Amino acid sequence: MNTFTFHNPTTLHFGQGQLDKLTTEVPKYGKNILLVYGGGSIKANGIYDKVVQLLQGLEATIVELSGVEPNPRLTTVHRGVALCRSNNIDLILAVGGGSVIDCAKAIAVGAKFDGDFWDIATRKAAATGALPLATVLTIAATGSEMNSGSVITNWETQDKLGWGSPYSFPKFSILDPANTTSLPENQTVYGMVDIMSHVFEQYFHHDTNSPVQDGFCETILRTVIDTAPLLLADLNNLEHRATILYSGTMALNGTLSMGIRGDWATHNLEHAVSAVHDIPHGGGLAILFPNWMTHNLDANVGRFKQFAQRVFGIDAAGKSDKQIAEEGIAALRAFFTSIGAPSRLADYNIDESSIELMADKAMIYGDFGNFQKLTRADVVKIYQMSL
Ligand code: NAP
Ligand code: FE
Repeated sequence: MNTFTFHNPTTLHFGQGQLDKLTTEVPKYGKNILLVYGGGSIKANGIYDKVVQLLQGLEATIVELSGVEPNPRLTTVHRGVALCRSNNIDLILAVGGGSVIDCAKAIAVGAKFDGDFWDIATRKAAATGALPLATVLTIAATGSEMNSGSVITNWETQDKLGWGSPYSFPKFSILDPANTTSLPENQTVYGMVDIMSHVFEQYFHHDTNSPVQDGFCETILRTVIDTAPLLLADLNNLEHRATILYSGTMALNGTLSMGIRGDWATHNLEHAVSAVHDIPHGGGLAILFPNWMTHNLDANVGRFKQFAQRVFGIDAAGKSDKQIAEEGIAALRAFFTSIGAPSRLADYNIDESSIELMADKAMIYGDFGNFQKLTRADVVKIYQMSL
């Protein structure tokens, strides 16, 4: 276990009816609100009306930025920064999923930066501050509601880059499972894959003394695996929605990485696929993660054996460690298929012809990954395995 400092400043309001907390939270920041949302799901499911009604009750002035894309784009960040500057915004309220929240984080930091936000995403400059940001989450997936990370796509250069800063944590986040019941089956699946992937990124390391973190990770993985079929059979079930919602936040709010160093190579591989093909993040991860595992199995067979036994209950009798580990990866593939997740890049009509370009995008900062450093040859191999 490494030394670590843990600090998470986001206040979490979790459970049914918690939207009313806007009434006490918002006035702490002021009356000029930038309401950021996506392509209209919050209008269809009534969340928009409820939020606007609560804000009007506070006599807030609401400026809207709608149409944030899944895989949010730099052009939308620029629009948001301009709105903040011209309207003297006090608080940015993101209502939606990871895309809306990530875009709002970039706007919050961009509004307090003397320059182009893209310089921060490309690590040429550091954030210098942020407007206060809050979220009402509508999809269990990214953990963005309680972390400082954000992923923004520059469609002109075809780069999708993760960035973060101490300023980009939400001040507060409201998570009501009822706000996630309208989520369609495919997005529910992508979200669960993303949650599991965040755990994998922090579970596959070489530290031999991480029993508490291992237990947290394995519990979240087993919980998602057990809950997924129940939720998919009953998408309106609030208990299952709550279980997955809580899993998503705990998977990426810093808890799992205390004392360990995460890998994050597969997220980087996926961002490069999305940068070129604009596919759903969770769909890309479902395709790539089992292949990353197979490719890196020999880097630490014992770790994969532990995963197989503790997460999927693979029977060890009469088998070598490697066989057990391989059965764990096969069980993960079977699980993803059972919930309807994609398994091949071909499912998104991606073929061999774009592998080199995707590899260029993935290699933007050179070799990457902490469990096993991936070179360009590794990246190409994993994409080929995923075709
Ligand atoms: P998302 O892209 O925010 O949303 C996906 C789709 O679901 C959108 O079409 C959205 O519609 C719809 N939707 C959301 N809530 C809904 C609801 N309650 N009912 C019906 N439809 C709903 O999905 P996401 O997986 O949360 O975010 C993905 C992005 O986050 C990717 O760019 C990914 O790379 C990034 N990411 C960030 C982190 C992080 O830590 N910051 C971690 C992993 C991934 P609307 O457009 O109408 O809202
Ligand atoms: Fe993710």
